[in-house]
Amino acid sequence: MTVQAETKTYVNYINGEWKASSTNEVQASINPANKNEIVGYVSTSTKEDLDHAVAAAKHAQIAWRKLSTPARGEYLYKAANVLEARLEEVAETMTREMGKTFQEAKGETARGVAILRYYAGEGMRKVGDVIPSTDSEAFMFTSRTPLGVVGVITPWNFPVAIPIWKMAPALVYGNTVVLKPATETAVTAAKVIECFHEAGLPDGVTNMVTGSGSVIGQGIIDHPDINGITFTGSDGVGKRVGQGALARGAKYQLEMGGKNPVIVTEDADLDLAVEATISGGLRSTGQKCTATSRVIIQSSVYDVFKEKLLAKVKEIKVGQGLDSETWMGPCASEAQLNTVLSYIEKGKEEGALLLYGGSKCAGNGFEDGFYVEPTVFENVNSKMTIAQEEIFGPVLALMKVDTIEEALEVANDVEFGLSASIFTTNIQKMLSFINEMEAGLVRINAESAGVELQAPFGGMKKSSSLSREQGQAAIEFFTNIKTVFVKG
Ligand code: NAP
Ligand code: MG
Repeated sequence: MTVQAETKTYVNYINGEWKASSTNEVQASINPANKNEIVGYVSTSTKEDLDHAVAAAKHAQIAWRKLSTPARGEYLYKAANVLEARLEEVAETMTREMGKTFQEAKGETARGVAILRYYAGEGMRKVGDVIPSTDSEAFMFTSRTPLGVVGVITPWNFPVAIPIWKMAPALVYGNTVVLKPATETAVTAAKVIECFHEAGLPDGVTNMVTGSGSVIGQGIIDHPDINGITFTGSDGVGKRVGQGALARGAKYQLEMGGKNPVIVTEDADLDLAVEATISGGLRSTGQKCTATSRVIIQSSVYDVFKEKLLAKVKEIKVGQGLDSETWMGPCASEAQLNTVLSYIEKGKEEGALLLYGGSKCAGNGFEDGFYVEPTVFENVNSKMTIAQEEIFGPVLALMKVDTIEEALEVANDVEFGLSASIFTTNIQKMLSFINEMEAGLVRINAESAGVELQAPFGGMKKSSSLSREQGQAAIEFFTNIKTVFVKG
């Protein structure tokens, strides 16, 4: 591919240096709002490049782990300050590369800053317990030890927050990192890494190698010097990561898809439920793992809820994310657009009734982007593909039920279990939902897509490896417990 002179190339970051891939090959990252706009070029790397990065990380870890945890935290504070100073620029890159609105991109980048500060602070907190020994002269306690080199494999939907919520705890607890970002959003990832570079982290502590999942991702899975792998992405790739890591005895953590329900009961505040369903289901063009995709409504309020919802959905302004009028941007890639359209077709074929949307956006300004209309189906039941598989697009499936028991049964009738919401003013229904909903994140009178960085995050069932990220839970993956017995 010929590189356009005015467009920047973002190369790998290995041992504190920016380095072209060993073949010098690059590929274009394009703007999903206008496929003719190249956001930047990124390196297509080889196994050899990955080997260099892993060797650098392995070497750097010897000195990094010897620093005190608060000293490592200081570097994260510095990285937070750099990212904060570059917030608008990084967010603009994210919008151009991935399509979400500038407002959402700024929110995500600000979250990245907050995550760095949070884990910098975690570096000052206790990491172990004193346990009484049966030997009265001995002292027994637990300590934490880093894994070593951590491979970080991330998706394109949160190109700043996800790399940071994995890298920050990895680093503060004494690991070094090799990041393989999603190819779709590798320019944004490079900017995150620039912030670590500008913060002055020692050479080799953070490294980034861009390239295909099948070469660099698979290379991380197989690499004997990578001690732990943290992955967020699709179910299919997650399985490969888990199986590959298990086979060679590496630690692994997987966060995958969702098929998240919202339950709207007859005693709910319907206006609030409508707002939250739209926000949870359609923001970021439905491309959040916690996005609402199934709306399970009690029959007595079904018609009123549906009319209120449709009235609001019709007002949604679709457009390019940098336009301040836009509420919903394009799908992040052509492949994603085609996936969404094929699920919509499947919905129609299987007998769901299309109430609104369902097509590519037509007309002025939409020709060159991957735009799809916000889409609402009704008459959906649990046997249908659109009620079972993750669509990762702006598609809501309305499902009618009579009772709360039936609502919970339908809500749980999927293989995923990431997040779920209920709208109700009835304490009994809230309690049933808290107790019986099979999801890692359950929210009452709030949208399914809200995640707070200081709380554990992760799914049940097929949504995760059942480990948790973020908050204080992150220490469980990024360290191993060492039980220490001391006798004088
Ligand atoms: P994906 O295709 O699984 O890709 C995720 C990452 O894995 C990318 O960096 C990808 O690289 C890499 N990869 C691809 N093939 C690989 C292989 N054979 N071996 C190792 N790595 C490989 O997922 P995506 O399409 O980027 O993201 C969407 C998915 O992520 C959705 O299913 C969504 O639910 C999930 N997600 C989950 C969470 C959560 O926390 N639960 C959060 C966000 C997203 P390339 O980009 O180069 O292909
Ligand atoms: Mg792109």
